[in-house]
Amino acid sequence: MPHTTVPPNELASYWLPFSANRAFKAAPRMISGAEGLHYLTPDGRRILDATSGLYCVNAGHCRGPIVEAIRAAAGRLDYAPAFQFGHPDVFRLASRLALLAPGDLDHVFLASSGSEAMDTAIKIAFAAHRARGDTGRTLLIGRERGYHGVGLGGLAVGGIQNNRRAFSALLPRADHLATTYNRARQAFSVGEPEWGAELADELLRLIAFHGAETIAAVVVEPLAGSTGCLPPPKGYLQRLRQITAEHGILLIFDEVITAFGRVGHAFAAERFGVVPDMIAFAKGVTNGAAPLSGVLVRAGLHDALMTGPEHAIELFHGYTYSGHPLSVAAALASLDVYQAEGLFARARSLEPKFAAAMMSLRDKPGIEDIRPFGLMCGIDLAPIAGAPGKLGLEATARAFHDHDLYIRIGGDTLVVAPPLTIAEADIIDLTDRIARLVTGLRR
Ligand code: PLP
Repeated sequence: MPHTTVPPNELASYWLPFSANRAFKAAPRMISGAEGLHYLTPDGRRILDATSGLYCVNAGHCRGPIVEAIRAAAGRLDYAPAFQFGHPDVFRLASRLALLAPGDLDHVFLASSGSEAMDTAIKIAFAAHRARGDTGRTLLIGRERGYHGVGLGGLAVGGIQNNRRAFSALLPRADHLATTYNRARQAFSVGEPEWGAELADELLRLIAFHGAETIAAVVVEPLAGSTGCLPPPKGYLQRLRQITAEHGILLIFDEVITAFGRVGHAFAAERFGVVPDMIAFAKGVTNGAAPLSGVLVRAGLHDALMTGPEHAIELFHGYTYSGHPLSVAAALASLDVYQAEGLFARARSLEPKFAAAMMSLRDKPGIEDIRPFGLMCGIDLAPIAGAPGKLGLEATARAFHDHDLYIRIGGDTLVVAPPLTIAEADIIDLTDRIARLVTGLRR
């Protein structure tokens, strides 16, 4: 019996992204509202949101000040041309983001999605090298198990084969570092693994092989999110920073998931004490309430492009919806909420309790690893032999239909990343539901 009030004949036309469409349409998971920690279904159920939507609703759903800000902006200025014009709030937002960012990441280029932010960062890297006369730097270095969205730049540095396979002919040149994840060395460890900093030295091998003068940028998530919360080994990011700086290679952090409190700081760069050359952000900047993303750029890099005659466009790049007034209003209000409620510090103080709750699942059936970091945790389920992802889809459905739980499951890995507003009692409830879910799965 499909769990929806929408008649089945209205399900055919919509093509769901990154989804098993036929399985969905056989038993739809329909969401019609949201409030605080919960989604609401058309049949009146309250579903606990264990993954903040898609890692974006960091302050909880439908927050009054954010809703009001969007409403007001819609009535005041629906759209302003992004090219050759500006509106006051977009400058306020950029200044606030630059103040929040570490080091001299002082300039902000805006877009709408994480994918656009990644393509933007990569294009800025190419353009800045070129502007400095370094025209040979056109190779990108990403990392296995990295996810940087679905634009061609982000796909090129991304490290998930399924996302790339059909599109390889379109991709810019890229090589990849090895993933830092090694189950044999780190299974069931909390926080940054003690081993593995030496994996950053693989970059030296790639530099020796390709030549530093051909490499534009190294692109990593400081903490890989979509592929299951993979914290960096202690010292790894610092080593990447050191090697890239020594070889004139730009370091780009993709903080689309990790920024705005997920790891207890405005940016993960701050937590790890590393200042990259660019930070891509999205998701939490508007609490998920409107599409907005961007790239924070170091002053020197930005200035390298501010050359030529003053009437000339410095960077031939931008989007119709760069700095859209509704999204900017949502972002300003979200930053206010984060600040007023001290949500980044709250995430830091909840982290040990959250980690303990997640680790309590260790002895449940079929769990191969648990990796908590910040208010995020990857939980690997043992896959069904010969059918990777099948158990994960089953778990997605069972969580929603049987346990009133929404949880993002990539492949056979659960990624828990609740709103930072979650109470300790809700962490216990969430953990109980996951325990019941994994215990009840058919294998
Ligand atoms: N980069 C990272 C690290 C992400 O997690 C995501 C999405 O989850 C993206 C980029 C792409 O963002 P979007 O789906 O908004 O294009």
